[in-house]
Amino acid sequence: MVVPAEHALHEAIQVSPLILSDDVRRQKIENCVAKMRLSAVTARKIQDVFISEMNKGIHQQPSSLQMENTYIPELLNGTEEGLYLALDLGGTNFRVLLLELAHGAPIRQEVKQYYIGSELRVGSAIPLFDYLAECVSDFVISQGLQNVELPLGFTFSFPMIQHSLDVGVLVTWTKTFNCPDAVNKDAVRLLREALDRRGDTKVKVLAVLNDTTGTLVQGSTLDHNTAIGLVLGTGSNACYLERADRVEHWETERHGESEVIIDIEWGAFGDNGVLDFIKTDFDRENDANSLIVNSFTFEKYIAGKYLGEVVRVILAKLTKQRLLFVGDSTSDSLLTTGNLTTDLVSHIEQDSLDGGDSNTKEILEKFGIIPDEDDIRIVQYVCEVASNRAALLVSICLASLLDRIDKEQVTIAVDGSLYKHHPRLEGWMKQYISLLCTPGRKFKLIHAEDGSGKGAALVSAIAHRLKKRLQ
Ligand code: ADP
Ligand code: MG
Repeated sequence: MVVPAEHALHEAIQVSPLILSDDVRRQKIENCVAKMRLSAVTARKIQDVFISEMNKGIHQQPSSLQMENTYIPELLNGTEEGLYLALDLGGTNFRVLLLELAHGAPIRQEVKQYYIGSELRVGSAIPLFDYLAECVSDFVISQGLQNVELPLGFTFSFPMIQHSLDVGVLVTWTKTFNCPDAVNKDAVRLLREALDRRGDTKVKVLAVLNDTTGTLVQGSTLDHNTAIGLVLGTGSNACYLERADRVEHWETERHGESEVIIDIEWGAFGDNGVLDFIKTDFDRENDANSLIVNSFTFEKYIAGKYLGEVVRVILAKLTKQRLLFVGDSTSDSLLTTGNLTTDLVSHIEQDSLDGGDSNTKEILEKFGIIPDEDDIRIVQYVCEVASNRAALLVSICLASLLDRIDKEQVTIAVDGSLYKHHPRLEGWMKQYISLLCTPGRKFKLIHAEDGSGKGAALVSAIAHRLKKRLQ
């Protein structure tokens, strides 16, 4: 028997019906994408697996969730004053940022973007970190602050193992970076050594973090109930405020901390096979077409770098099966990996919301396709199915986190262009999270932009305060 809450969930995760002139064709298409549509029962099963993986990770048992201790035991307390720096590496933009704080709140921000050429991104560590130090120094000197002691938070958005707030050992490069001799080295140390080689500023690297942690801290300045940070951009990850007594991996001396931010590293959820029961042939192909095969399983279901590709792979399959663009000589362009980016999925989704077709037509025409009405409906249907699955998967994990945190009111701070621009994710997530967590839980989703910049400067302010207290 289906219990009422499960029935509500079942109803909520239905996508708009596909209506085509040819019913046999409709049936074939629905069958083809059927495995992309997760049932309420499967959603609960994923939830159980996520909870189990979180527990294993935090107890240091083998798990696809790293549950990394960030060693950030508290948020801002309103006493932070002065100037703080951030260095943001690993997102779409590489930046140096200065934040001025009064009573723990930002009152001024200066930021400068720099470019890292491919010869530095793929090479050896020393020239790369020398360049990072050069940018920091260029920025600091341009602000006339070369003689001021400035705490710096280093956003290093790559998988790392943290031994303390200011020691982060690189596990592997991702995205467009690959400097093999930096692997297994402490990114903070590499940066400090490069800054020392220059010796022209008084920058103190006090913390290393990733964009997700910065997002939580940045969110907490907007809403003091913030206890979860979520990134839905190129990649995806989340972190949350965990009870310190639950955290086993703690290499530094403890000082009676009651909480600490745990970085889940959920992009890799399922890398050990625990999510294989939802993997479709489309996901296998998306993985095979990706830069680092057999890793970042969960990220490949949900993040901006991949959502468009999932849609493209499905459309290509339907085309090859002569279920889509039948009357058209198919454009090879849509059959090429990487050609359908996630922003286009957002534009097509906007049409579905508006009941229109102008964006969809325009996008397909750019691929050299003249679609008929059925083609448009099918493309919109596929975009909705893939987007909806992403929303559901993220919601399953967030609902589990809300239950784990078990506070009266929790705010989830979100950063990333996918979340910001996709016209339906936020609405779906609100609905699904409330159906998936314990009934009656109060939660809010807020936009916390620039966690990787502003958030990192804020973390350096927290680190500075902690350091002074412990001296
Ligand atoms: P990063 O995660 O690198 O810091 P962003 O948060 O800006 O940067 O995310 C960039 C990702 O967001 C890109 O991979 C792109 O796929 C996705 N994106 C950009 N614009 C949109 C949009 N309009 N709709 C959905 N996704 C988008
Ligand atoms: Mg970002």
